[in-house]
Amino acid sequence: MINRQRLVDSFIKMTEVDSISGKEGKFRDYLKAWFATRGLLGEEDDAGEILQGESGNLLFRIPGTVAASPILLAAHMDTVVPGMGIKALLGPDDVIRSDGNTILGSDDKAGIAAILEAYETIMEKNLEHPPLELLFTVSEEQGLLGAKNFDYSCIKARMGYVLDSGGAPGTIVIKSPCQNEIEYRVFGRAAHAGINPEDGINSIALMAKALAVMPCGRVDAETTCNFGIIEGGIARNIVAPNCRLKGEARSLSRQKLDQLTAQLCAVFEREIVENGGKCEIDVKFLYPEISLEPDAEVITLVLRAAAKISLPTELISTGGGSDASIINGNNIPCANLGIGMNAVHTTQEHIRVEDLVNNARLVLSIITEAARS
Ligand SMILES: [Zn+2]
Repeated sequence: MINRQRLVDSFIKMTEVDSISGKEGKFRDYLKAWFATRGLLGEEDDAGEILQGESGNLLFRIPGTVAASPILLAAHMDTVVPGMGIKALLGPDDVIRSDGNTILGSDDKAGIAAILEAYETIMEKNLEHPPLELLFTVSEEQGLLGAKNFDYSCIKARMGYVLDSGGAPGTIVIKSPCQNEIEYRVFGRAAHAGINPEDGINSIALMAKALAVMPCGRVDAETTCNFGIIEGGIARNIVAPNCRLKGEARSLSRQKLDQLTAQLCAVFEREIVENGGKCEIDVKFLYPEISLEPDAEVITLVLRAAAKISLPTELISTGGGSDASIINGNNIPCANLGIGMNAVHTTQEHIRVEDLVNNARLVLSIITEAARS
């Protein structure tokens, strides 16, 4: 039922509309115009103003033809850099790539293309469908910022799908971690490195002592932590009075995240204070975990939808957050679906036409299956 040529054309056209994070204005206009010609006016929220970007999140509501539960479908409008002036090329191997100078933007326009093609097909073939809420977010790549600033009280759907995971179509993310960002700051005392170092307290040395006894890397099968940025000091010949470390902790389990974070903070503080320094720690909760049971309605629906089109499925756990994390955190069970994008965030990014098609087939099947239940 999916129109392959129309889908490929639509995908390529969308990748060629610039939309790097914060500068989604042109792409927002593209989507608004696309839906407007089909008689649908979108609602744009104030996330653009809050985030000082060009566009807010866009929501389109499509009334259902049957009295079934509404479904939320979401994807993000923004891309990473280099993402200006993308030229998408369809190769003889039926793989779409950029010209090598930019990313392709299949992350996440392959997701958007699937939603648009499924919608087009429903309208064209007059297929029964539940009420649909289509959400296109901004600034996902900058830390899920659009999704975080969206007001979910206006969403009627009690289940949703984000189309924004790696893995082939049929990959269904049912578990993903929650994450804390942790900034550690050490304050020592400056002194001349050659004349009176004993009057100083070297914050870098204190930080090193603390780090040596803090967990780092994989903690257990569900839990990791990392130190990613360290900076500080003033000059080679000054005992470093302060330094700063940025790290993170994540876990599939909220309890383990809380425990690990408490442990990191306690060990750090103990080591710094015992060695004569002072410290400050800031913990920022970035996003909640996804923990969906295989028998949850949101999962059984997509499994049935995939079976209907003979698409193999795999329920997976992943190590990263997505807009689905935020949507789940707002009490809307939401799975992130694999869309076949490859080598994302690089100039080698590519996607197979077959995967574009399967994405659209799966979205369409979810919708028609939901109309039956
Ligand atoms: Zn993405």
